[in-house]
Amino acid sequence: MAASSPLALVTGASRGIGRGISVALAGAGFSAAINYVSKHKAAEECRKLCQQASPAGSHASFELFPADISEAHDHEKLLNAVWERCGWIDLLVNNAGVAPVERRDLLEATEESFDRLIRTNLRGPYFLTQAVANRWLAGLAQQGSRMRPKIINISSISAYAPSTNRGDYCISKAGLSMVTQLFASRLAAEGIGVYEIRPGVTATDMTGPVKEKYDHMIAEGLTPIARWGTPEDVGRAVVAIAQDAFPFSTGEVFNVDGGFHIRRL
Ligand code: NAP
Repeated sequence: MAASSPLALVTGASRGIGRGISVALAGAGFSAAINYVSKHKAAEECRKLCQQASPAGSHASFELFPADISEAHDHEKLLNAVWERCGWIDLLVNNAGVAPVERRDLLEATEESFDRLIRTNLRGPYFLTQAVANRWLAGLAQQGSRMRPKIINISSISAYAPSTNRGDYCISKAGLSMVTQLFASRLAAEGIGVYEIRPGVTATDMTGPVKEKYDHMIAEGLTPIARWGTPEDVGRAVVAIAQDAFPFSTGEVFNVDGGFHIRRL
């Protein structure tokens, strides 16, 4: 069945930031294709929250699409399923990402961890973006009045702030920033906007293991706005971009980081 409201494909949407993005988009009247890799129950919970957030009388739909973003050969299967069940994608949010299983000093880092992070955080969104962009270019002419298609990449403050105990993560996010610049340059003439959101320290399962460390750093002044970020903070930024609040911008970086990026003396 074709979705009757603009549709966002959000990768890694079962939990954390991806869930916050999906619920915020649902609240703004979007339909969502909720991707995840293994945690079906969490994805079901996300779907329920989206349904609750969706405005009364909205014909938005919320469907689950399990797929491993790190496997490029899963992308076509995923997109075929989304196109078949929802008809079209208006917004791709490349959010799915992983942290290293174990943080290790640069001098002891492993190839295994490097390959895992690059495959999921960089190679996956790069080729998924390519596949979605090609579908858009093949079908845009028939879509007439639909919203200007957009891509939003969820990178991190780690794209520019080195952590010497997780170089693999930092490199994957720095690479994703370049993915934004590349596709923004290539797709502008086609009317497709590409954006990057850089979340700071955000309370999710990913940061659970380092909660005490960051509690302490935030209390000591890590960020001008002295609190943890939330998935809702990122969701609000995604909605603003999705609703075309920045029609003369592309390749833009939005810091959602409590001011972490400000150099201070
Ligand atoms: P999270 O709570 O660990 O959630 C990760 C999500 O990604 C889950 O939905 C997971 O699905 C999905 N996922 C993982 N590998 C996948 C794969 N190969 N294919 C498809 N989905 C996959 O993480 P988070 O903190 O929300 O992070 C979301 C994004 O924000 C990541 O890109 C992360 O790097 C970035 N970020 C996070 C922070 C932070 O402080 N938390 C800061 C800056 C940037 P399952 O539930 O099925 O496992």
